[in-house]
Order: sequence, then C-alpha cells, then structure tokens
Amino acid sequence: MCYQHVIQKLIGYFMCGMTLGACSLLAQDTGDWHESFPPHRIADNLYYVGSRGLASYLITTSEGHILINSCFERTVPLIRTSIEKLGFKLTDVRIILSSHAHGDHVEGQGLMQELTGARVFAMEGDASVISSGGEGQYLYKDRWRPCRVDRVLKDGDKITLGGTTLVAHLTPGHTRGCTTWTMTAMDNGKPRQVVIIGSPNINPGYQLVNNRDYPEISDDFARTFKILKSLPCDIFLGAHGSYYGMESKYAELKANYSSSNPFIDPDGYRAYVEDHEKTYLNTLKKQQNGK
Ligand SMILES: [Zn+2]
Repeated sequence: MCYQHVIQKLIGYFMCGMTLGACSLLAQDTGDWHESFPPHRIADNLYYVGSRGLASYLITTSEGHILINSCFERTVPLIRTSIEKLGFKLTDVRIILSSHAHGDHVEGQGLMQELTGARVFAMEGDASVISSGGEGQYLYKDRWRPCRVDRVLKDGDKITLGGTTLVAHLTPGHTRGCTTWTMTAMDNGKPRQVVIIGSPNINPGYQLVNNRDYPEISDDFARTFKILKSLPCDIFLGAHGSYYGMESKYAELKANYSSSNPFIDPDGYRAYVEDHEKTYLNTLKKQQNGK
C-alpha cells in the first residue's frame, strides 16, 4: 500500500467516524447500523425494511409505495432485499421521504432515487442539505451524492398516495428540517395513530446557547417537544429502532406472546418524549451555566 493510499484510507476512516457520529446520542454503539434485520409488518400497509440499527419504513398502496429513509448508500441493498422478501418491488417505490438530513438517513436518497425513479420530498431546512449532498449541516462535514429534491415540504404538508396520507410535522433542533411523520394505519380492523419521530436528540457537541451556526436551535428543540407532546400516538416508531425498542417488540411479535400488536405503545411514546425533554432542559441549564 503506497503512502498516498494510506493517507486516503486514514482520511476515509476519519470521515466515516464523523458520519457514524452524525446521529448517535451519547456514545451509542453504531456497530449494528450495517447489519441486516428481518423485515416485518408493523400494521396493515406499514413495514419495517431497515437494518438492525437504521430504521427505514415502507408504506404500501395500490398506486405504489412510499419509503421513509434510504439510510447510507451501503444500506440501500439491505433495504432492497427486505422489500423483496416482503413480496414487494423496489421499483414500485414512488415517493422517498426522510426523518432528517444526517448521512445515516439520507446518504442513500440519491442512489435510491436512481434505482426507483421515485420522487424525493424533503422538509424546508433539510431539503437543500439533501440536494447539495450534505452542505449546510450544523456541526457535521460529511458529504454524499447530491440528490434531486422534487418537492420542498412545509410544516403540516400532506402526502397522499393510493388512499394513504402521511403528515409532515416540522420538529427541528436535531436538524433544521427534522421531520416527524404521522399517519393512520389500520391494524386488525382498527385505525391506529402512527408517529415516526424524526429525532429529539441533542448530539455530542451541540451548542444550545450562543450558537452562531444555528442561533435558533434551543427554541427549535423547545418547539419540537411541544409538538411531540401534542401528537396522538398508538404506534410509536422513530428514525432508529432503538428509539422505540424495535428489537424487543419484534421478538414479541415473533413469539406471539400476546394477541395485541407490540408496536402499539402510547405509554412508551409519552415516556420517551418526556425523558428526552428532561435531557434537553438539563443540557440547556448546564450550558447556560457555562458547564
Ligand atoms: Zn441525526
């Protein structure tokens, strides 16, 4: 290996480290991000098709499918395999959405767009980050393949395909256009309110006070918690399976421990939001006190 190659490798590892840090809360283990995970049905037309650590959701309709999060480019083949295992076709994906513009959720949007011909929609605040391939992110410098954004969304916009409607809720702070998706999904003949949290996490290095790069960050987080607390939730999901205990809920689903759907977890949702709001308030207080 020549000297230049070694340097390139080191730069690669460094960049990779920054990318891997993009979404982690505290020093969470990211080793499971690139591991495959069994795809599974969450409700009638809502499926998990992500890796073990990176959530990706498929919403199937009679007019094609909606995909939330393509994750990294290297996750795209895992997502494709998961979609096919469920009996669906990747090329039937018509709309690609995202949780927020960090590499672990959107690096693969451009590749997924190429493979499917689908339209990519993104919230204002995140749209230009996705289309430019990572420019304009707060704190992070990782870059990815630029991706054409076909529609820039605003808070409250509705996306309807084949009789299914998703609502985009702007829940900023983690990124400027961080998006929480809601929809009604049928489960055993009953309508259930689904919430897919974009991210309420204050990552290592995030400055809530005197932030010249993102001056409104603290107000944005405060707004996000207000919104999350206002959303009715039966089925609790998020940008990473770890938000909602995906693996244990999947194990429960497989073992059929109970006749109820383990993904129905309104108490878990409330506890998660309250816990993260406390973390936000404590971090704000510490940073205001100069700690
Ligand atoms: Zn993130």
